[in-house]
Amino acid sequence: MEKFIKISKLADLKKIKNPVKFLAGGTDIYPLLKDGFLENEFFCDISGIKELKETKIKKDVLEIGALVTFSDVIENPVFKKYANALYESALVMGSPQIRNRATLGGNIANASPSGDSIPPLFVLKAKIKTNLRTVDIDRFFMGPKKTILKKNELITRIIIPKEQKESYFMKVGPRKALAISKVSVAMAFKMQKGVLKDVRVALGAVGPTVLRAKKTEDFLEGKHLSDRIIKKAGEIVSSEAMPIDDFRSLAVYRRKVAGSILEKILEGRLKWVR
Ligand SMILES: Cc1cc2nc3c(=O)[nH]c(=O)nc-3n(C[C@H](O)[C@H](O)[C@H](O)COP(=O)(O)OP(=O)(O)OC[C@H]3O[C@@H](n4cnc5c(N)ncnc54)[C@H](O)[C@@H]3O)c2cc1C
Repeated sequence: MEKFIKISKLADLKKIKNPVKFLAGGTDIYPLLKDGFLENEFFCDISGIKELKETKIKKDVLEIGALVTFSDVIENPVFKKYANALYESALVMGSPQIRNRATLGGNIANASPSGDSIPPLFVLKAKIKTNLRTVDIDRFFMGPKKTILKKNELITRIIIPKEQKESYFMKVGPRKALAISKVSVAMAFKMQKGVLKDVRVALGAVGPTVLRAKKTEDFLEGKHLSDRIIKKAGEIVSSEAMPIDDFRSLAVYRRKVAGSILEKILEGRLKWVR
């Protein structure tokens, strides 16, 4: 039986009869293939679908094609302008070689709790568009490596509102480069007359999926930044993390680091205010 097909336009999805595994940049798939985990899969290469490589700036939203790579995110100034947290996550993702191939769609579909684009997309209120529906990112992940995607459902675009918000991302990994996150934090807010508004905080690698830190968001909403508030926010976010012990880190370490990262982001912001 043929085990590989390639499509070059979205309309060709309708022609696929068998259940397929989509192949985008291959940076998650090839290591699994090499280790013999995907022997029974039937692959559909989507890497040539040009319409999914574009980022469109619409009136109210950014429409990002699922095949946009992490290198594209770094190189296209529109991301730094409207989606700085995503831009900052791309800067610290993998290595130049991985960033050149790895796509946002692949990072999302792979659904790792440590996927670096995911916490930024949570705080940027992204919607995931597929060939069948459009879903808020908060409702997209079911568990580690599990999403709501049905067989042959393809992520086509990521939609981000063009809000006047600041957003940031930081991660801690075992090394500076080529490091899967042990803990990551993304944050977005508006700063109005020195007060935090519309605060969103998302945590990576400290739960079965990326998590919103809602108690921390509620605590920070409407607050003036100060050293005391920042310290308290760090404590709250640590208590909201739900990490496990694994070969990368201990839960107790991850909880503490989640707090330290949030404090670091806010301390950086406080320096501008002072
Ligand atoms: C050395 C190395 C370092 C890495 N470092 C990092 C890191 O620092 N941070 C990080 O987050 N990740 C890292 N990764 C993981 C990986 O690079 C990313 O998850 C990447 O974004 C996956 O994208 P891809 O296009 O290569 O996906 P692929 O490997 O092509 O696909 C991944 C999964 O997504 C599915 N898929 C792909 N596109 C779609 C789509 N449009 N719709 C539906 N399903 C789809 C595939 O079927 C597959 O199940 C690293 C990987 C390697 C090998």
